[in-house]
Amino acid sequence: MRIDELPQIREVLQKSNLIAKKSLSQNFLFDLNLTLKIANLNGSLINSTVLEIGPGPGALTRALLASGVKKVIAIEKDKNFIPILKDIEKVYPNRLEIIEQDALTFNLESLNHISNLKIISNLPYNIGTKLLINWLQPKIWPPIWRDMTLMFQKEVANRIVAKHGTKAYGRLSILAQWRCSVKISMNLPPEAFRPVPKVFSSVVSIFANDRPQFTANPLILEKIVKSGFNQRRKMLRSSLKKDNLNIEKILLSSGIKSTLRAENLTISDWCNLARTIENYEKS
Ligand code: SAM
Repeated sequence: MRIDELPQIREVLQKSNLIAKKSLSQNFLFDLNLTLKIANLNGSLINSTVLEIGPGPGALTRALLASGVKKVIAIEKDKNFIPILKDIEKVYPNRLEIIEQDALTFNLESLNHISNLKIISNLPYNIGTKLLINWLQPKIWPPIWRDMTLMFQKEVANRIVAKHGTKAYGRLSILAQWRCSVKISMNLPPEAFRPVPKVFSSVVSIFANDRPQFTANPLILEKIVKSGFNQRRKMLRSSLKKDNLNIEKILLSSGIKSTLRAENLTISDWCNLARTIENYEKS
């Protein structure tokens, strides 16, 4: 099925003589039927603006535009893709804004005037977790984005949706599930990409809830969860000590055994601990 008048992605790449760069996690999607599916996983795109990280040769970008997105703001670090993306813009005038920039330095707050913002991306895996953590920790909640449809390496996707008591449960699970609803929406084999990577991939859907599941000061929660899981083999009384010298007392008054480890605490426990720390600091 043709979704636009542009040549196939394979032809576009061949014509431009571009070779995928490992350093930029370049594993491309060629199948526009597949990118159409990914683009529409979380419902209609009409009236939405989409932030896309790493459009590359544009398979997902074209699917988003063909699906009726009002505008795609695409951030690409590799300058070689800019002319290819400009050709897409010609077919969809004024609906594709191409920004040549490192996504890690892009200020999401600059988009705070946009309503109904979605982030949809086949992420560069080498910076995927870092980007997600930034998006999950905005200064104000609810965040600028409403929902995200993001491709990750399967192991990372499993960590985002992991429940307490499972092996994959950790910092990513807590940061994501504290204030968002998350699910794996699609699994993809390595062969879906070119060049074929060594890993399997999954698309995760993340919806920002209006309010967190449990009350907690985000700065305190983020700090203790990070310290706890940075030293996940250690008991909480040691892993959290550098953040708070009175941690043994605080754990006791939160009803949490100081000999437990980070992975033993549910999201509710972590929020309870963050509240006790806040009260302790205030008193
Ligand atoms: N969206 C395309 C697709 O699905 O075929 C390409 C996805 S590829 C996995 C990742 C893309 O992210 C590449 O185009 C790569 O150049 C780009 N990229 C890598 N690091 C980046 C960064 N720091 N900032 C912006 N783009 C980056």
